[in-house]
Amino acid sequence: MNRIVVYPGSFDPVTNGHLDIIKRAAQVFEQVIVAVFHNPQKKPLFSMEERVELLKEVTKGLDGVSIDYFTGLTIDYVKSREAIAIIRGLRAISDFEGEFQMASLNKQLDGEVETIFFMTDTKYAYLSSSVVKEVAQFGGNIEELVSDSVKAALQKKYGVG
Ligand code: ADP
Repeated sequence: MNRIVVYPGSFDPVTNGHLDIIKRAAQVFEQVIVAVFHNPQKKPLFSMEERVELLKEVTKGLDGVSIDYFTGLTIDYVKSREAIAIIRGLRAISDFEGEFQMASLNKQLDGEVETIFFMTDTKYAYLSSSVVKEVAQFGGNIEELVSDSVKAALQKKYGVG
């Protein structure tokens, strides 16, 4: 069975925490589609194209991993790709409420699609795209938090480094 899963997110930009989830999901499932979604509520730092490009760079050489983007309902996108599950990451209790709500809603919209959670590696428990942007804009050291290409892209955006 070729088990396809979708890992949706803003990825603004992709961090080492996201990458860890992608690699671990790829060990469990045959195909992992990392899908950047357009969230009209959020004003991203990186355009959709830039976020997709950075994800492609950091996942280069990972077997079974592909990058895509979508607009609209996650569940519709997941069905269109014939995926069996949505992958999400959990860092802290604070993630739980929103994720529980979203997983329950998606289950209500389509009972066949599961949401599967991967616990963060404790070394990335504090890591988010927002934290990375905060540190990067003041020229702080983000070496351990993101890949080199993401670091370079952030430095360019903020005109630092
Ligand atoms: P969203 O806007 O959907 O929250 P994000 O790009 O912030 O998009 O996150 C996508 C998914 O990755 C979410 O499920 C989030 O909890 C998870 N995630 C983000 N950072 C980490 C991390 N450091 N460790 C584990 N999971 C993470």
